[in-house]
Amino acid sequence: MRKKQFKAESKKLLDMMINSIYTHKEIFLRELISNASDATDKLYFKSLTDSSISASKDDLKIRIERDKENRTITISDNGIGMTAEELESNLGTIAKSDSLNFKNENKDDENLENVEVIGQFGVGFYSSFMVSDKVEVISKALGSDEANIWVSEGVDGYTVQPAEKETVGTTVILHIKNNTENENFDQYLEQDRIEDLVKKYSDYIRYPIVMEMESQVPDKDNKGEYITEINEEVLNSQVPIWRKNKNEIKPEEYNDFYKQKFYDYTDPTLVIHSKTEGQATFDALMFIPKNAPMDYYSKDFEKGLQLYSNGVLIMDKCADLLPDYFSFVRGLVDSADLTLNISREVLQHDHQLKIIAKAIDKKIKSELAKMLRNDREKYEEFYNTFGVQLKWGIYADYGMNKDGLKDLILFKSSNGGYVTLKEYRERMADSQNDIYYACGDREEKIALLPQVEAIKEKGFEVLFCTDDVDEFALQMLMEYDGKHFANVQKEEVDLSTDAEKEAVKKKNEDSKELLDKMKEILGDEVSAVKFTNKLGNHAAALSAEGYVSLEMAKVLSQMPGGNDGVKAQLVLEINSAHDIAEKLANADENALEKYTKILYNQARLIAGLSIDNPTEFADMICEMM
Ligand code: ADP
Repeated sequence: MRKKQFKAESKKLLDMMINSIYTHKEIFLRELISNASDATDKLYFKSLTDSSISASKDDLKIRIERDKENRTITISDNGIGMTAEELESNLGTIAKSDSLNFKNENKDDENLENVEVIGQFGVGFYSSFMVSDKVEVISKALGSDEANIWVSEGVDGYTVQPAEKETVGTTVILHIKNNTENENFDQYLEQDRIEDLVKKYSDYIRYPIVMEMESQVPDKDNKGEYITEINEEVLNSQVPIWRKNKNEIKPEEYNDFYKQKFYDYTDPTLVIHSKTEGQATFDALMFIPKNAPMDYYSKDFEKGLQLYSNGVLIMDKCADLLPDYFSFVRGLVDSADLTLNISREVLQHDHQLKIIAKAIDKKIKSELAKMLRNDREKYEEFYNTFGVQLKWGIYADYGMNKDGLKDLILFKSSNGGYVTLKEYRERMADSQNDIYYACGDREEKIALLPQVEAIKEKGFEVLFCTDDVDEFALQMLMEYDGKHFANVQKEEVDLSTDAEKEAVKKKNEDSKELLDKMKEILGDEVSAVKFTNKLGNHAAALSAEGYVSLEMAKVLSQMPGGNDGVKAQLVLEINSAHDIAEKLANADENALEKYTKILYNQARLIAGLSIDNPTEFADMICEMM
């Protein structure tokens, strides 16, 4: 009998499979089970409209048999089957060749090994050649009297000829390769391995996947002895938890599912289970973990949700489904709108996927808003762990997402505890023009800043920015509900009355000579020295002029490679009502230099900046004492 040649494209894909160095060869089982499930679907749907076909859902099954001795795995279904022509056209050519097109487009790229192409997406029937050196397909089509067998040992072709088969459906027999030096193929003949693979990839296939399972049970007749029992068992659970109705699922079920699936020991903080119909139809089950995953802050961390197409896992981490600011969300999406044979390349441009991603983003936001409203304590706990991500989200992408996130962020406040921007805005006094904030590495330190104390004395609230990103996020927001953000350590923040302003202005004019001398002593360190009335009881403080604040300058200078170009313009502010003002006015040249340096350095310390020469500073203080 004459061997037929595969169509050119199929030959290429087949060749790729046979020579694959891809490590996840295990997916062959998923592919064959999906095909069996599709064929069963087809028969079942036909039976719904055609009364001559009897297909009770209870009879429809996918069966796996393993024969270790002969090194075969057999996957059979009682689905719609294939005629001889269909065996040829379906298995001799690739129907949808997304993977191959992708490979062709990139064929000049040496590094793009087949590794990338295979595995992430459906590669279909040919994947069986990754683990087999010979594949037989025996099939009997619905409505046909005869069966046929398709056999291939790889690239040199295949044969199709009549065969014996009583029932309608398809049986695929894989002749598993022998172990090589580098590769263990025996594993696919082990019952536990097969069971695991079914659970991992095909748990939610709607038909029972059965296999005869050996187990050791105590022998009733001989105490202490064991005998081998063989029972047919269903390996898959068939109904995915996310397809069930919310009100049928207990909280423990969600938690157990989460912990088992995402390898966490702790129950999640929040479970989001949604069914969406409309532009896109999909089920989503998402979790916000209590703690950040171990590798969350490492470069190896990959965000993403699992992607299922009708209960079949097609991608483990679909990054396009989650914005970066929600990278901590774990979970999955199941949509019938996506085909199994979809490549990652195609997926990125998939319109349907974009709609799903948008809906998911919206859903997570609304669930977080709900938690913030209804369970403040829990929200703050969540925020302590992942809040920084939301603030990065405001800053990132040129502020593209800021509107959706601004009501989800919290700040510690001078009033104690966390405050939302909305709450701050609502309790602002009529006389207050700006939303005040101050920066530092710890709340306690910020609270003690002279400028913060002065503003608090006026009865105003100050937001405490303790994360590097805070001020960048506020700058990106620019305003909230018509009120601008103002850094109290910035020079332009001034709450005094007109009369007070006038008095300070006069004081500065009268002391011009003194201030100029002080500026000269400090040189380029500061852009100006001024008297102020904003410091309460404190002698001196630093403020920043212009766009770059003290905190931003600090953050930027800590960035890898430094950022010398960006420097805050510092102003040394001296409290005009403090005794020190008089001391300065009466000091001789020598004393003035020391006073100035001491005041400047202590102002740096208060602002959380380091000082260049601590020894000199300490010596000067001792001398004065
Ligand atoms: P895909 O399933 O993505 O179309 P495959 O290469 O896996 O690609 O399969 C090619 C075709 O062969 C399928 O579309 C289907 O028509 C047919 N086929 C494969 N397996 C079976 C089966 N068990 N029963 C019936 N038809 C099958």
